Amino acid sequence: MKLKYIRLFTVCILFALFFINTESLAENEQYIDVKIGDNIALNSTISISSTSGFVINNSINSYTSNEKALNISLISPEYYSIFDLNNNKISDIKYTDNFEITTIDKGTDVISINNKSYRGSIKIIMNNNSYYIVNHLLLEEYLYGVVPREIPSSSPIEALKAQAIAARSYALNNLSRHIKDGYNLCDSTHCQVYGGYSAEKENTNIAVNVTKGIVLKYNDKIIDAVFHSSSGGYTESSENVWGNKTPYLVAVKDPFSLNAPNSNWNITFTNSVIVNNLRKDNINIQDLIDIQVLDRTESGRVKTIKVIASDKTVLLSGDKFRSIMGNSNFKSTLFSIEKKYDTSRILKSSLSKNGIEEIDISSGTVSIITKDGIKSVDNSSINILDDKGQSDINIDTHVASFSFVGKGYGHGVGMSQYGAIEMAKEGYSFDQILQFYYKDINIMQ
Ligand SMILES: [Zn+2]
Repeated sequence: MKLKYIRLFTVCILFALFFINTESLAENEQYIDVKIGDNIALNSTISISSTSGFVINNSINSYTSNEKALNISLISPEYYSIFDLNNNKISDIKYTDNFEITTIDKGTDVISINNKSYRGSIKIIMNNNSYYIVNHLLLEEYLYGVVPREIPSSSPIEALKAQAIAARSYALNNLSRHIKDGYNLCDSTHCQVYGGYSAEKENTNIAVNVTKGIVLKYNDKIIDAVFHSSSGGYTESSENVWGNKTPYLVAVKDPFSLNAPNSNWNITFTNSVIVNNLRKDNINIQDLIDIQVLDRTESGRVKTIKVIASDKTVLLSGDKFRSIMGNSNFKSTLFSIEKKYDTSRILKSSLSKNGIEEIDISSGTVSIITKDGIKSVDNSSINILDDKGQSDINIDTHVASFSFVGKGYGHGVGMSQYGAIEMAKEGYSFDQILQFYYKDINIMQ
């Protein structure tokens, strides 16, 4: 009998210890606030659904609804109205800073919001007369919704693990990125792409789980683990993109990214499209005469570009020029320029008078072919004088279009995602992948 009580007592103690332990663990769990979607306009309606119903808190009172779907209308900055699906008003809820919606079965149920599902809870934030929805959830659950949006979930597990650790480190390093707007990170490429519960995939959840809590550190501090789609064969040092030198974000030769799907690209713009894009960015030039690469970084990326116009010459960084032309089509700054000239502008009738047999401007430089041989010049406008010193013909080497032929996709700093996949295919482990792309870092809990 006595032994039985001792056993029961021990079981109780162990049980209690287990709960105290999980409780204290739970307290240490990192939460994150992620803005989802665009801002919401006043008077718009947010449709939410769940399988267990909702608890709506506004720090003054708590309202529980067993309805599986609700519409929340943003009536005024002071309050929201909640309607059932038949448009019957259920309640008015006063807006406070802590306006939060959770499911009744918090922990197992998810909230669908405008047909996309999220773990955790939903907050509606009002900030300077803009409204937005913020998803409040555990960091590890947030990563479930990030990794499959950042890398194909069918990638080898070691690449998925590397991506999970990079995304976790990036998130923890950037928790204050949007803090002045009342949340930590946004769900777009500006921070990390996050698709919520709807985006989750089994393989990427496994990669998050098996690397739980693991981050990258340099000198005991979590690193800014930036990454990009493909380096095109050479990653870039941070100072060449963002101006600040970061010891672990340095250029490395990256043979693993050479055959990535976006490794080779080219895009052509007419002269007038480039002029219009520059003007939209308040770079007001008259006629565009030429675009030249002035210098390149160690990785071969364009550092400075020279835009020569009829009225002025403008110097731009490669990244600035890329963003002016559109970051998604103009995939990187690792490019060269090919030009197509407008041959209609040559006054061919007077060529023979000067002993000129042909003028070839097709290859990007101007070649004047005379009886004495080829004379190449590279200039925007060439005047050929006759015997009396008068301008006889004017070759206006107007560039009709510029083609940009490039490699890689993204800013090129930190881990190349396709490079990581290729390394994993070749048998490298997640720590080898991370050590390759981030210099002198430690991989730790
Ligand atoms: Zn952001």
